[in-house]
Amino acid sequence: MNKISTQKAFIFLGAPGAGKGTFSQIFVRKFGWVQLSTGDLCRKHIAQGTDLGKQIDFAIKSGKLVDDVIIIDMVSQWIDEHIKMAPGIIFDGFPRTLVQARLFLELIQKRFSELVVNVIQFEIPDSLIIERLSARKTCSNKQCQAIYSLLEQSTQKSQKNGICDKCGSVLIQREDDKSETIAARLQIYHQHAQPLLDFYKNHNFIIHRINAQAPLQMVQSELEMIAGI
Ligand code: AMP
Repeated sequence: MNKISTQKAFIFLGAPGAGKGTFSQIFVRKFGWVQLSTGDLCRKHIAQGTDLGKQIDFAIKSGKLVDDVIIIDMVSQWIDEHIKMAPGIIFDGFPRTLVQARLFLELIQKRFSELVVNVIQFEIPDSLIIERLSARKTCSNKQCQAIYSLLEQSTQKSQKNGICDKCGSVLIQREDDKSETIAARLQIYHQHAQPLLDFYKNHNFIIHRINAQAPLQMVQSELEMIAGI
């Protein structure tokens, strides 16, 4: 099997709503990187009504994690189908558990020739996450999944109320962005974040802590600097 020549990668590690999806989309648009969002992949399966989608629907809606084996299969398949000559790749919301991190390590050793992985830890207080997620709207078109905010001070407001600027579809609130589910997702994130960071440290990954409350442009510049762009 030929090894993939993509050389740069980010692992975005952060609570839901910390900005991982937003910055992934900027890197995709601006630099032609590819984004592997396991959350987006899961939602696509559900929207298409696949067998897998039916299996994972409950976990997603209740804010729980999807089974590691299912996620790893999805990721391997995605890499086979999508990653060709992209200059960089963002792992957005993956790995989420130690089991996934171990398999991730095997996967990159097997499939990539010389991938430099920077772990980006998005730091942001839970109170702000709750505010952001409660005001987050997502494009209902599963091929688009653009993210918007209803917050007054946000730079991510859609131009037409309730409509996606990119594809014209209706904006909706994700089922798991409803307040009952946010607490469960935050709790799961905190339970796994430190063991993952310890794992990355023990395997000599470079970890960067980013203040995710800073203005969007500032965070973006910091990420570009880390990526050497
Ligand atoms: P996200 O869009 O990354 O916030 O993910 C939404 C939901 O998809 C999560 O709350 C989980 O139910 C599921 N999910 C996404 N990525 C993973 C993963 N790497 N491992 C397990 N479950 C995941």
